[in-house]
Amino acid sequence: MRAQPSASHFIDGQPFEDTAGMAFESLYPATGETIAQLHAATPAVIARAVAAAGRAQAEWAARSGAERGRVLRRVAEILRARNRELSELETLDTGKPLQETLVADAASGADCFEYFGALAADLRGDHVELGGGSYAYTRREPLGICAGIGAWNYPIQIASWKAAPALACGNAMIFKPSETTPLTALKLAEILMEAGAPAGLFQVVQGAGEVGAALAGHPKIAKVSVTGSVATGARVMAAGAATLKHVTLELGGKSPILVFADADLDAAVSGAILGNFYSTGQICSNGTRVFVERPVRAEFVERLVERTRRIRLGDPLDEATQMGPLVSRAQYERVLGYMQLGVKEGATLACGGGAARLQGMGDGLFVEPTVFTDVQDHMRIAGEEIFGPVMSVLDFDSEEEAITRANASEMGLAAGVFTEDIRRGHRVVAKLQAGTCWINAYNLTPVEMPFGGVKRSGIGRENGRAALEHYSQLKSVYVEMGRAEAPY
Ligand code: NDP
Repeated sequence: MRAQPSASHFIDGQPFEDTAGMAFESLYPATGETIAQLHAATPAVIARAVAAAGRAQAEWAARSGAERGRVLRRVAEILRARNRELSELETLDTGKPLQETLVADAASGADCFEYFGALAADLRGDHVELGGGSYAYTRREPLGICAGIGAWNYPIQIASWKAAPALACGNAMIFKPSETTPLTALKLAEILMEAGAPAGLFQVVQGAGEVGAALAGHPKIAKVSVTGSVATGARVMAAGAATLKHVTLELGGKSPILVFADADLDAAVSGAILGNFYSTGQICSNGTRVFVERPVRAEFVERLVERTRRIRLGDPLDEATQMGPLVSRAQYERVLGYMQLGVKEGATLACGGGAARLQGMGDGLFVEPTVFTDVQDHMRIAGEEIFGPVMSVLDFDSEEEAITRANASEMGLAAGVFTEDIRRGHRVVAKLQAGTCWINAYNLTPVEMPFGGVKRSGIGRENGRAALEHYSQLKSVYVEMGRAEAPY
């Protein structure tokens, strides 16, 4: 199976190669086969991208918002028309099952381009009356060249969530995908050209952390938005400090789901399953600490384990497959390590707990969806982000106790509450320290809703109107209708 792109990078409107950069491969995680060979960007490639971005941004920002929006909405149409091809490529690059990529990756990107394409025509400032006929107004202006740095779990979705609002506001973007999943961002760059974006407006440079760091520290780049781990977010912020860059940080989490005794238990089990096993558990906002009120705990665990055991692992290209492999060997080893740790720490293994060997899947990096019960707050499986299909179930006795324990984390990306008492639902989410909360749902991220974290889970918001604030700056203009006067 090959998915070799014509070149590693996409610069100034076309594929671009520089074999001087360090070579790396993209693997299909379900079999371990090499599907593409690429080269990391050299400093010369980055310089070329920055120069082209500067030219494109000036031209793009001079277009009206409505014109920019038309291009972005055309991107949405092309993404939808090519959804199957893009989904198959995403499946090869990430190992996520086609059943998911067909609905959650390029499709989510399309929603995002459509939404920000519509908003582009409606960027506006305020009018401020100052008395005596004088007034001020504000203009919402682009930042300039923005860098986007992506994680490997939702490659084309992350590229779209960053590019669409950035371009809507009149910026250019240089995007660095994760080295693990380099392929679909190149397709997005091609699609932007086809939709009528100027050459250089959205460019892709490949490479690992050093390339990301070079972008984060580049003096001509005004903003960097990264999706990744907390440690990477801190490094990006530090690298951007010297040039006072704007930053958006979408980082990790160890989010809680609170299941109260009055909840619709099957819906709560669905939420916990979605919030732990979708994308083989490789989702930042996953609700990996599932707190269940003691009276319904046994019933909840019974239904949960029964449904978890039925999850169908298999060939990700088979549309009947529900769970694919983990993305890389490093991630595989790490997740298996946490499964062993859970047992060692004294949690009860309710199901799963190890590697899954599947016939015909060669060196596939499959692991079993795993549920630990009797988990205690101090255990490392309850405190650290695992980024794999490992759920911790914890028990609680009162609302206050559940809230306190849910908040006892340095991270605060997301949280969920399952209850049939609407007052309790609102009361509890108001006290949870999380950037995104769900009541009686989990992990739904429609583009209209701002998404992001508090505490160490991040800074800034993606999606919704809120994202526009993070890709633009206000210029205030004072207009004097009298005569300027000076006291001396
Ligand atoms: P990493 O933090 O390892 O990497 C994220 C991106 O940053 C990659 O493109 C990486 O390059 C790059 N990078 C690494 N070091 C630097 C640096 N010093 N300067 C600039 N860029 C750098 O995360 P993963 O890719 O492993 O993704 C998993 C993490 O992402 C999890 O913690 C997860 O919670 C988080 N995440 C957060 C989301 C959110 O929206 N809040 C969504 C999805 C994931 P390379 O990997 O190629 O070396």
